[in-house]
Amino acid sequence: KANRKFHPEDTVIKLPTGQVIGDGSLALIAGPCSVESEAQICCVAERVKAAGATFLRGGAFKPRTSPYAFQGLKAEGLELLKKAKERTGLPIVTEIMSIGHLDLFEDVDVIQVGARNMQNFELLKELGHVHKPILLKRGLANTIEELLMSAEYIMAGGNEQVILCERGIRTYETFTRNTLDISAVPILKRLSHLPVIVDPSHASGINWLVEPLAMAAAAVGADGLIIEVHNDPSRALCDGAQSLTPDQFDVLAKKVQKVTETV
Ligand code: PEP
Ligand code: MN
Repeated sequence: KANRKFHPEDTVIKLPTGQVIGDGSLALIAGPCSVESEAQICCVAERVKAAGATFLRGGAFKPRTSPYAFQGLKAEGLELLKKAKERTGLPIVTEIMSIGHLDLFEDVDVIQVGARNMQNFELLKELGHVHKPILLKRGLANTIEELLMSAEYIMAGGNEQVILCERGIRTYETFTRNTLDISAVPILKRLSHLPVIVDPSHASGINWLVEPLAMAAAAVGADGLIIEVHNDPSRALCDGAQSLTPDQFDVLAKKVQKVTETV
């Protein structure tokens, strides 16, 4: 179902509220790694909206490597995202870790499946019955083919609104958190009709690398970017090192849109 051979035209994801991914424009999804407080999420939401973002990201259930690290505000985080959405009109993108939480995701506009759950097939099958877009991230050490098969798991259940996300893969390089596989974008777009977005924040792990990687993603035809933005990166509870300030995101947003206009 994800294969372009049987579906030559691009899939365009359109939310009931009007936001679009996959129509040739560059969708900007921005916000903090984790929702931390009402003031934080609302401040960031207002700033990224002003900069041109059309979706708000923010983790409520966080898949942390250490069980002792901040695990997210969970249900309360989802409530705060809802408040930020009421305030700004920005639709919410947030990660699901367990199908047992699905009831809490009623007001979530786009459900994210994180890299660590890309092959949680039972979760994917359940999301196949959901009537909202799924943002599916590539696993830390998964091939392009495996990413497409995971999309297939969701689509096989009837939900064909899948957004693919390249977020870097693990290689022998240690300078960056992951290695951005930029070629995955044109390859995925050739093999599949689904929209493809890039996450330069998790791909690099370093805030000054986010802008150049975002520019590269726009240049190779990505349909969108998902970028971590924090009002005070040095105090972020998660992923501060790769987070942009709202001012930095503002600069990036203008530059990347110019790239998309020329490709
Ligand atoms: C995230 O988006 O905050 C996240 C945990 O990303 P990934 O699953 O790509 O590591
Ligand atoms: Mn993060």
